[in-house]
Amino acid sequence: MKVYVVRVGNVEEEVLEFIRKGLEETFYRGFCVISEHIIEVPSGSYNRVRQQYISEPILNEVLKFALSLEREAGEPCIVLGVADIDIYTPGMNFIFGEAQCPGKAAIISLFRLRPEFYGEEPNRQLFMERAVKEAVHEIGHMLGLRHCGNPVCVMHFSLHIGMTDMKTSKFCRDCMSKLKAMMVL
Ligand SMILES: [Zn+2]
Ligand SMILES: [Zn+2]
Repeated sequence: MKVYVVRVGNVEEEVLEFIRKGLEETFYRGFCVISEHIIEVPSGSYNRVRQQYISEPILNEVLKFALSLEREAGEPCIVLGVADIDIYTPGMNFIFGEAQCPGKAAIISLFRLRPEFYGEEPNRQLFMERAVKEAVHEIGHMLGLRHCGNPVCVMHFSLHIGMTDMKTSKFCRDCMSKLKAMMVL
């Protein structure tokens, strides 16, 4: 199986490459392909009042792309969209990402991962490590994993950035054995 990482709107190349490396460390070499395709942010997804983008139409675009890739490749594909806009889902102030669980489509947002968003000094390494954690987390969901109670497991739910920083980019032993049982790893 392969995961395709695709830009949703404008996204820095360097971050995508860092995510690809991080995914291959957690999963295996050759697991991740960065697509040349760019998914346009659907204009109807912007909420002027909240000044945020609702995630559902974006996730639908990612799913459409996954299905078209599958038709081309003739094999199952899962796709992680990477966006640099503030996204939300009804009932939440914001989300770091969202995925079909299980499914073929997920998105992460880089918008709230930069330390400067929280008034802190810029830190590229920290920013990109956070992006890897969110990417692995949403891919875990696509593979069928639910949230994990272990606070250092990558499948632990992040309500705020401190919780992202507390967890690692790796699956705990329980989550790992679930993936193995599904023959993903
Ligand atoms: Zn989650
Ligand atoms: Zn776990």
